[in-house]
Amino acid sequence: MSFSRIARSITPSATLALNARAARMRAAGEPVIHLGGGEPEGLAPPSAIEAGIAMLRTGQVRYTPATGTPAMKDAIIAYTERFYGRRPGRDNVMASAGAKQAIMVALLALVDPGDEVVFPVPYWVSYPDMTRLAGGVPVPVRPADGSFQPSLRDMEEALTLRTRAVLLNSPNNPSGAVYDEEFVRGMVRLCEERDIHLLMDDIYHRMVFDGNAAVNCYACTGRELDEARIVVLNGVSKQYAMTGFRIGWAVGPAALIRAMGNIQSHLSGNPSALSQHAAVAAVADERDSVRELCTHLERHRNVMMELLAGIPGLGVNVPGGTFYGLCDFSRFDADSHRLSEHLLEKVQVVTVPGVEFGMEGHLRLSFCGPLSEVREGVRRIAWLLDPHGPAELEAGGRVFRR
Ligand code: PMP
Ligand code: GLU
Repeated sequence: MSFSRIARSITPSATLALNARAARMRAAGEPVIHLGGGEPEGLAPPSAIEAGIAMLRTGQVRYTPATGTPAMKDAIIAYTERFYGRRPGRDNVMASAGAKQAIMVALLALVDPGDEVVFPVPYWVSYPDMTRLAGGVPVPVRPADGSFQPSLRDMEEALTLRTRAVLLNSPNNPSGAVYDEEFVRGMVRLCEERDIHLLMDDIYHRMVFDGNAAVNCYACTGRELDEARIVVLNGVSKQYAMTGFRIGWAVGPAALIRAMGNIQSHLSGNPSALSQHAAVAAVADERDSVRELCTHLERHRNVMMELLAGIPGLGVNVPGGTFYGLCDFSRFDADSHRLSEHLLEKVQVVTVPGVEFGMEGHLRLSFCGPLSEVREGVRRIAWLLDPHGPAELEAGGRVFRR
């Protein structure tokens, strides 16, 4: 059997594969600790659930316009006005089946075979494969100083005549780094000068700690939405704990949104009517559940980082946002897949290998789960990595041996 070049060039999403593996182990009764997760542990807002149930009861769950219902578009418009200070028109916004699909249709609308898409390292796991799916060439840019803050100069050097898009994700998955204003402002200017689209993956933009805030890209340009080269990607997955609803969105120049909508109309048609209805209720909910989520996550971050700092030889980088940290484990094993597998096998702790994000020698640890799991996960890791520790560890009703 032979498959297409695209099928052969794409690898499965490592994060989703690990989620599935952790779920299988749990179902089999294993005392697994999941520090590889990518979703808040809380429930979707009651307003969203109620809206979904009410709609289901009507039995009127039909096709909607491919780019979303008028109510969904108005919710995206209101959200953008509230958090970015810009009021887009309905033709500047579209809903998708998750931010993932919004990013994908943006790339399909911008990239021709051989065109380049530039993004800083570490990058979200799907960017290289999404770029390849669109026929493009991924160009990861590694900060020369080894930090998680990309430099404007490194990024500028990576831009060529083939660059069609730059992808930025701040706060960043997997590092939790929040890019500073000078950098974002500089990228907006560079992309405007060179007519390159800047895709701002803002899915964690309200999950920032220590009283800080993510940079508002629209505050970095004097241009109107249709003239700016900015596309903002977001959704309800993370901020409203609605990952399984699969609702994301894009805000951008009307001409590009139209092209993206055309592609989506053939790809999946509309995002789920039911989920759009629930998402509208979540976005309109005045109760600030995101602030609560943030306070909760900040506490988890503090606990995890403090415990990790107690492991000699581990390189800890304190995340400024999201619910992930990317730590340097290279003193223990430079091969992140091997180390991640070792942790899973020996102490049943799920982590994500850093190489999936372009950072070999690192592991991504999530602190979105219960605090007891955060503590227990780090306790098991610390035991396994300590060459002078006891030969056995009791955990989850089991005795682990080296
Ligand atoms: N971007 C980043 C950086 C992410 O971590 C995720 C994770 N799910 C997504 C986009 C996609 O989110 P979704 O499709 O669930 O809206
Ligand atoms: N974005 C999350 C993560 O990075 C969820 C998994 C995925 O969509 O790939 O873990």
